[in-house]
Amino acid sequence: MRKIIKGNTGDWEIVIGLEVHAQVISNSKLFSGAPTTFGAEPNSNVSLVDAAMPGMLPVVNMECVRQAVKTGLGLNAIINKKSVFARKNYFYADLPQGYQITQPAGQALVGEGVVEVNMGDYIKKVRIEQLHIEQDAGKSIHDMHPRKTFIDLNRSGVCLMEIVSKPDIHSAEEAGAYFRKLRSIVRYLETCDGNMDQGSMRADVNVSVNRVGEGLGTRREIKNMNSIKHIENAIAYESMYQVKTLEAGGTIDQCTLLWDINKGETRVMRSKEDAHDYRYFPDPDLLPLVITDEFIEDVRKTLPELPDAKRERFVKEYGITDYDADILTQEKYRADFYEEAAAGKDGKLVSNWLVSELLGILNKNLIELENSPISAKQLGELVGLIEDNTISGKIAKQVFEVMFETSKDPSVIVEEKGLKQVTDTGAIEAIVDEVIAENQAQVADYQGGNDRIFGFFVGQVMKKSQGKANPGIANKLLKEKLG
Ligand code: ADP
Ligand code: MG
Repeated sequence: MRKIIKGNTGDWEIVIGLEVHAQVISNSKLFSGAPTTFGAEPNSNVSLVDAAMPGMLPVVNMECVRQAVKTGLGLNAIINKKSVFARKNYFYADLPQGYQITQPAGQALVGEGVVEVNMGDYIKKVRIEQLHIEQDAGKSIHDMHPRKTFIDLNRSGVCLMEIVSKPDIHSAEEAGAYFRKLRSIVRYLETCDGNMDQGSMRADVNVSVNRVGEGLGTRREIKNMNSIKHIENAIAYESMYQVKTLEAGGTIDQCTLLWDINKGETRVMRSKEDAHDYRYFPDPDLLPLVITDEFIEDVRKTLPELPDAKRERFVKEYGITDYDADILTQEKYRADFYEEAAAGKDGKLVSNWLVSELLGILNKNLIELENSPISAKQLGELVGLIEDNTISGKIAKQVFEVMFETSKDPSVIVEEKGLKQVTDTGAIEAIVDEVIAENQAQVADYQGGNDRIFGFFVGQVMKKSQGKANPGIANKLLKEKLG
């Protein structure tokens, strides 16, 4: 769905394309045996290849290739049996080789694919242009010394996947949802950990605007975004900026931008005029990468059930809504948690308790489901107690709160606090009689034809029983006695 910007001179549409960098999960780097552990002592994960000592030769780490192919299959993309490594030449202190080994456009390991993004009231399809693998650069640290810059080469040579979308995205919300979906997919696949605050996943965001019905406008590229919220804010700002500029008679020049979080605006980093000429050429140290059908099929066998398939299965198997199934399958851990809790239970009830209650309270307390004080098994047990009428839904809420505080099993809490539902008809009948005796005016009113007052009697019975009376039995007895 295109979000239209209403300008002073007419309607504009926004066009967005994302280049997402995702760090591959692998023990060692793309072309060397150095480890990739996060947070290691600076310059401790560096081999002679990563430090670009003269005469060192890169050797492709096939585990990285396998991970990229797996991701490509997860993105419903074409896998290219032959791809090429090229040198992208530029000078920077944290790039000791003086070039980055990457794959050029059109010669990447993974070709066109498509990602489906659930936008709630519609499904957005974002086409993938390509996925290529490349080396990450090192890191320059400017804030440790007043005059010196420090270089940490631990990241140098780590394998990145760059996932390039077509310019199919038409609002900030779609861009955010697309990124979230990509993250969900690579985390399911275990090809990237998706840790954005550690820089494992980041995006370059290309934005342009054009008058409705006209061709694509000139794009500006916001570099290195590592938060979904910032991506959305930056797009909202940048698209408005471009519309205002064009409507004021200005022009948009292609350039690279930074998002200034504090000011909430984009700032030009470099213009395309002085853009580097990277002088791409095939890396003479590396043969074209050739993989076999057998290799691809082997990788295909390792694919897990992905979020889309899981969502459909949840709807069918558990009878839950598409909306709930979508929430439950966004994270694999969440989906597994649900299935463990729902085993042998009413899937809909478990889904309600997980989505509205547990995820709600965790969110409020800024706790991840991984650290939930209530386990999947315990949540399932709680629902079981409701199903077999040991407790009512209302009492279950009380039990749930105690579970959250204490991590105790629900059955223990019900026992300790004496919360078991009263299903003994005789006991409930006694309460019903009391309620009728004490509320003669209301009885007369009801018997005079005011049906709406029936709920009042039920409420009184529940109150007197401290919520423990079985509501079904209470209802039935009241109906009988009131006539
Ligand atoms: P480059 O090689 O300069 O990075 P590409 O043609 O590969 O350029 O495009 C990079 C990204 O920019 C892609 O994600 C693409 O979808 C996006 N893009 C291309 N044209 C536009 C446009 N007019 N508006 C917004 N995004 C665009
Ligand atoms: Mg680019």
